[in-house]
Amino acid sequence: AVPAALTVSIGRGAQLGVLFKGGESLERLARIDTVVFDKTGTLTLGKPEIVSAHPAPGISEAELLQLAASVEQRSEHPLAHAVVTRAALVGATLLPAEDVSAIPGKGLRGIVQGHAVIAGNLAMMEAHAIHPADVSSEPGTTVLHVASDGRYLGVLAARDTLRPGAADAIARLRSLGLAAVMLTGDSPQAAASIAQAVGIDQVVAGVLPDAKLAEIRRLQSTGRRVAMVGDGINDAAALAQADAGLAIGTGTDLAREAGDAILLRGEPQQIVDAILLARQTLRVMR
Ligand code: ADP
Ligand code: MG
Repeated sequence: AVPAALTVSIGRGAQLGVLFKGGESLERLARIDTVVFDKTGTLTLGKPEIVSAHPAPGISEAELLQLAASVEQRSEHPLAHAVVTRAALVGATLLPAEDVSAIPGKGLRGIVQGHAVIAGNLAMMEAHAIHPADVSSEPGTTVLHVASDGRYLGVLAARDTLRPGAADAIARLRSLGLAAVMLTGDSPQAAASIAQAVGIDQVVAGVLPDAKLAEIRRLQSTGRRVAMVGDGINDAAALAQADAGLAIGTGTDLAREAGDAILLRGEPQQIVDAILLARQTLRVMR
């Protein structure tokens, strides 16, 4: 039978907007010493906006956006949504794209009016022997490079918004003696700026989706007891592997299924609430 204290705490959690899937989840969460955060959609709202466009010489901003949006219209990635929205704002019409495929952690490729278009990060460009422009002058943005038939067309910079309360929540975790780590598929530059804004000093960036799981395992092998907080399809395996997986309630179905608990409102403070509740429950039970 489930001890009464656990049942009471699961009910208390629900009042706080934290859905624990069972008593064991509470017990494991009480014992963690490290909290690993996904960046996009977890520390940030996951709704990036394009803030600038830098077309290559001879290309207009409208052309750059049109080609990028024509392939991105086929993607569910938050960046794809940002590009399509921006293209609509400048009045660019979308062209039909064929054979569009996603390269996990890197970007997209597809055929637009017979041209092979690629859109994605530096790794995506390197994989296609494209040499993109240096846009490191825009800290805090995620860059999305575009090329067509092997020719570089330019770059779009996207900015995401921090979740309100993220920095506060991390400060509170620290005061509880917990270590905070960021684990993201985004570039080291984009990751560093968000990490600095929220007060995380341990960052693992440029991680391909499969490697998030491996990083959780690696931390565990060094003796850490790890909580993972995430929202994406690419966080699901890491959420399941962690000693306690906390899924952002507004995230993907896969993440919600993989977590031990769901933070219904996706607010960073709910992470602290959940840990305090778990610790308090274990003290009562002892
Ligand atoms: P994250 O959600 O942590 O950014 P992802 O694995 O979803 O991790 O993506 C990693 C990186 O791959 C993104 O930051 C982006 O640079 C690139 N990327 C992924 N999908 C796309 C896409 N549809 N268009 C452009 N770039 C993409
Ligand atoms: Mg995410």
